[in-house]
Formats: sequence, C-alpha cells, structure tokens
Amino acid sequence: MSTHDEIRATLTSEGCAEEQFDEMNCPTCGGPLTLSVHPDMRQFFVRCASDTTHVAMHGENAAAPEWWKAHLSGGWY
Ligand SMILES: [Zn+2]
Repeated sequence: MSTHDEIRATLTSEGCAEEQFDEMNCPTCGGPLTLSVHPDMRQFFVRCASDTTHVAMHGENAAAPEWWKAHLSGGWY
C-alpha cells in the first residue's frame, strides 16, 4: 500500500505520471484513490474513493501534467 507521503510526493512532482497515480492506493484499505483537480490546474484534492477518513489531502502542483485535465472538477467554493 502507499503512504500519505508517497501520495503527496507523487502528486506534487513535476510531470507526475498517470501510471504512477494508478499504481497508488489507499494507505488504509488499499482501495483506489480519487483525484480532483481545481480549474486553475494547480490545486488538487486526493481522497480514498470509499472513505475520506482513510486519506484526504489537498496539495498544489505548479507543473501539473496533461492527464489532470480529465480530473478537473467544480465545487471548489
Ligand atoms: Zn481507503
């Protein structure tokens, strides 16, 4: 399973690969992670797909990769 530090390090790294993200999983249950990207393409929110008490964190990536566009979401208010 992935650690919180690994998840943060991967998502804040320049050129974070989609394959790297897909290989990571929830530190608590081992399930898939859900990524939401702010319309500014810098801020992100990642959480366990089944339970936010497992993992849920915000971060920022100044060099977000192209594949993040597929994860753009509203609701950032
Ligand atoms: Zn989980």
